[in-house]
Amino acid sequence: MNCPHCGSASHRVIDTRDTNDSIRRRRQCEKCGQRFTTYEHVAANLLVIKSDGRREPFDRQKLLSGIQVASTKRPISRQTIDHMVDQIIKALQSVGRAEVASKAIGTMVLDHLAQIDQVAYIRFASVYLNLHDLAEVRSEIDRLMGRPATAEAA
Ligand SMILES: [Zn+2]
Repeated sequence: MNCPHCGSASHRVIDTRDTNDSIRRRRQCEKCGQRFTTYEHVAANLLVIKSDGRREPFDRQKLLSGIQVASTKRPISRQTIDHMVDQIIKALQSVGRAEVASKAIGTMVLDHLAQIDQVAYIRFASVYLNLHDLAEVRSEIDRLMGRPATAEAA
């Protein structure tokens, strides 16, 4: 991790605190002297806010299998999916929040899938974005293809 102020990788921990959700470390950059805070192991205790407002513990396996289902019979290796999940968890940890909306995680998956496989992307989108009909799927495809959305007209 790098200093958010100058990008230097050299910094030291000046204070460490355990909270319910994470380990909070106060750090000082050795290059620019600025202080910043990092949170670790958030994903292990991360709560996912579901669309109905209920919270449930973040479940790596669940995220993985959701992506696997969307990737069925697509040329996406298990290694690619694992790497994607790791990157998403790393991003969640770097945000350092205790709670994250399931939809936000879904959006992160979609950002990755958009780069990898468009069929898997649309399958995942239809579940996570609750695309109910063809018009919504189409407007999402339009968004993916960088075309202006046609949802309003449809
Ligand atoms: Zn710095």
